[in-house]
This record gives sequence, C-alpha cells and structure tokens, in this order.
Amino acid sequence: MSDRNHDGGLAPYAAHQVNSRGRLHSEQPHPYRGEFQRDRDRIIHCTAFRRLVYKTQVFVNHEGDLYRTRLTHSLEVAQIARTVAIELQLNQTLVEAICLAHDLGHTPFGHAGQDTLNACMRDFGGFEHNLQSLRVVDELEDRYAAFSGLNLCFETREGILKHCSRRNARDLGELGRRFIEGGQPGLEAQLANLADAIAYNNHDVDDGLRAGLITIEDLCAVDLFREEYESVMAAGRVRARAVVAETVRAMINRIVSDLLATTRANLAAAAPADIDAVRAESRSLVTFSDPTYQQHLALKQFLRDSLYKHEKVLAMTRRADTVVRGLFELYFSDPAVMPQEHARRALAWGAESGDAGRARAVADYVAGMTDRYAISAYKQRVDDTISW
Ligand code: MG
Repeated sequence: MSDRNHDGGLAPYAAHQVNSRGRLHSEQPHPYRGEFQRDRDRIIHCTAFRRLVYKTQVFVNHEGDLYRTRLTHSLEVAQIARTVAIELQLNQTLVEAICLAHDLGHTPFGHAGQDTLNACMRDFGGFEHNLQSLRVVDELEDRYAAFSGLNLCFETREGILKHCSRRNARDLGELGRRFIEGGQPGLEAQLANLADAIAYNNHDVDDGLRAGLITIEDLCAVDLFREEYESVMAAGRVRARAVVAETVRAMINRIVSDLLATTRANLAAAAPADIDAVRAESRSLVTFSDPTYQQHLALKQFLRDSLYKHEKVLAMTRRADTVVRGLFELYFSDPAVMPQEHARRALAWGAESGDAGRARAVADYVAGMTDRYAISAYKQRVDDTISW
C-alpha cells in the first residue's frame, strides 16, 4: 500500500482501499495511484472498453450519429453515479470503475444479441451478459504477463457482477456467495446499479423522441415525464429544440435528488459501521422512495411497450438474431474459421470439456464483436444479401 491516503474524506461505510479484499493475484502497490484508480485506468485502457463505442444500446450504431452507444451510455451512468457518490461520501473512483465496466460483456446488437447468444448456448451453460462482463475483466483481456484478465480488486468485480444465477454463482467462490446465501454488495455497487437504470430510462426517452419512434404526446401518459414537461412549458420561452433536453434534465435531477434523500435516510437508520455491515444487510440501502420508484417503473414500462417493442426496433432485433445465430453456428461447426487465438481456445477448451468448451470459445468471440464487425463477418461468411 502506498503512503498516500486514498481513503480521505470517505464515509465509514464507503469502500476503503485499506480494507479491500484485494486482487486474485497480489501486486506491488503503485507509488502514487490508488488501487481503485488503477482498476478504473485498466478498464479505460482495455480493448473491450474501446469496442463499446460500436455496440448498440437501443439503436444500432450506424443508424445515426446522435444516438447513445454502449460507450456513451456507460459514461452517462458513471457521471450520474459519481454525483451521488460525492454527495454521500462514497468512493467515487470505485463507483466510476464499476460503471465504466458494467457493460463490457454486452454482445453486439444490445439485448437482442444477448438473447440469441443465450439461446445458442442453452445446452452449454447459457450466456449472461453480466457474467460475461466479469469474464472479460477476469479472463479474456490479455494485457499482462503475470495473469489473464485485468486482475481487478474484489470490490470492483463485486460491482460488475450485478446479478448471477445460483448455478453460476457456485463457481465464483467468495464473489458468488451473496447470490447463494443472500446479502448485498457494497454501496458503490448498489449505486452503480441504480445509476444504470436512471441513465437508460432517461436517455432512451431522448433517443426515442429523436428517432421519432415515440412522441411527447405518448410520453405525457407517464406522470414523471408529464409533470416535468408541463413545468418546463409553464416557465415559457423555451426554444423548441431545448424542450426535450430541459425535460430529461429535470427528470434526472428529480430522481437523483430523491435517491440521495432516501439513501441518506436509509443510511442514518441502518448506521452501518463499515462496508461489511453494508454487505450483511438484508436489503439494498441505495434506493428510491416508494412513490418515485413507482414512477421510475412506469417510465420503464412505457419504454418497454412503446420503444423497445416498436416495429422498427423489432426489425433490428430479428436481423440481429439472424446474424448472431448464423455466426455462432458457423464457428461452432468450423472453429478454424475464427481468428487464430479464438480457434486455438476452441480446440483447447473442446479437448478439455467437449462441445461445451468449444461453444464457450465461440460465444466469447461472438460476444466481443462490435455491431459492424458482426454484420461484416456475417456478410462475408454466411450471407451477403442481408440488408441493414
Ligand atoms: Mg447498462
């Protein structure tokens, strides 16, 4: 541990570097960077992070330059979470690391790609994007001589693994324990989780309106939107282009302010002495108030029905399904077609654990693809008549 105090100004229940459960492979401390700072830096420098810019959030990357991508989504999540972390004296560097890494395991084409890959992997242990994010930082990134992966701190990995099936949790040792025995992750992880939901709810309103798939009139059926929209309009003299931005900003502000006030009250009532006391709680301490949670859910439900199930989005979903399935089947039947490192893994893991090993190597390769790489591979190897 360096002499520098990287835990200064933190609340007792925040994640303190000095109490970290550490890294899987022990490393020398850095002369001036803290451990969570190193984690964040490792994430920013890894290849999976750079690929996020060409991965779909809701809209396929090349549909327009103004829509969110996985990368800009992750930045917005980090920004919201840091604001709250600073206010609550939580570890903002750790929370930022978790937010920047939370979607590293996402497939091309967003949830459509994930569902198809999960279906392809049904007989081979399935595919969970959340678990894949952990797999990216634990195993797949190849940047260090001494170990595979990025060798991140326990607290960062704990935050990345938002949910996990009990079956998979059993293979994760200490990290999987809370999914089997109950318990919570640290506050920074809880915060990253809600910041993710706040970010996508709000930026999907913005993107959906921009794309013309939903209208302000439709959105006024949702209380949270209507109330903020009406107060923006009542203030008067808002340029038409700024109306949506003003409304979205007001919604984020309202929901984040509620999160802060409610979480402060939760922390005051529970008074956890440290991060282990937070982990031992039966429920999350970072929460919305109930009325705000209901409003948040109503907006989420609206987006599910009106945007994510919009015919134009579903048409993308069907093409994504064709591409991901086609690539999986191609590489599974002929792993040698993959680039050498993936072909080698398929061979080695296949020898070790049969079809399941080979399928995992194929899933890792396909999941790592950007949208445009997947489309071009599909056109080149499977069917060049597919139109996007
Ligand atoms: Mg996300």
